[in-house]
Amino acid sequence: MEKLQQKILTEGIALSNTVLKVDRFLNHQIDPHLMKEIGEEFANRFKNEKLTKIVTLESSGIAPAVMTGLILDVPVIFARKKKSLTLTEGLITSKVYSYTKQETNDISISSKFLNKDDRVLIIDDFLANGQAALALIDIIAKAEAEAVGLGIVIEKAFQDGGELLRKKGYRVESLARIKSLENNTIQFINEEEKI
Ligand code: 5GP
Repeated sequence: MEKLQQKILTEGIALSNTVLKVDRFLNHQIDPHLMKEIGEEFANRFKNEKLTKIVTLESSGIAPAVMTGLILDVPVIFARKKKSLTLTEGLITSKVYSYTKQETNDISISSKFLNKDDRVLIIDDFLANGQAALALIDIIAKAEAEAVGLGIVIEKAFQDGGELLRKKGYRVESLARIKSLENNTIQFINEEEKI
């Protein structure tokens, strides 16, 4: 997605060879117009999949997930990272290792929001080593629902997650695929280019 790539180039910061900071439009301040276009793009790519739900992870996945859910007219559920006082019964839980925070946390979704007839699209802001995506897939499987595919805003293609998920047979649609962040330079993989 050309507009997203331009935004990453002008406002993204390569913090190191592996971490990209995009807090100007995605991870802290949010650009609603860009989120709308991201939602339209995901909705278009997955429009024939007869989706019934979208699942994401709080907090940075929520904005692109809600925009996609609005267009596809399906509910959006975000997995919670912290236990809440009102979220106590029927929790489906999985463990996820956070790459940026370097810690393992439980994430949970209430079982009442997913059932065996659901066809679920997973949306997240970043795909790095695939741990967050695998934990969401695990929760969807525990609910006996089907994970139909993954919509990723930014895939760091130099890390393992994309290959891991595609090898497992999941459809992964990434709107920007980063080849390298080395030397403070952000390089993308072109649509035609293979990894
Ligand atoms: P994974 O589980 O695929 O290793 O990492 C995905 C999660 O880690 C995303 O939900 C995102 O929050 C965070 N993450 C991974 N890499 C980056 C990065 O380079 N920049 C930012 N801002 N977040 C990242």
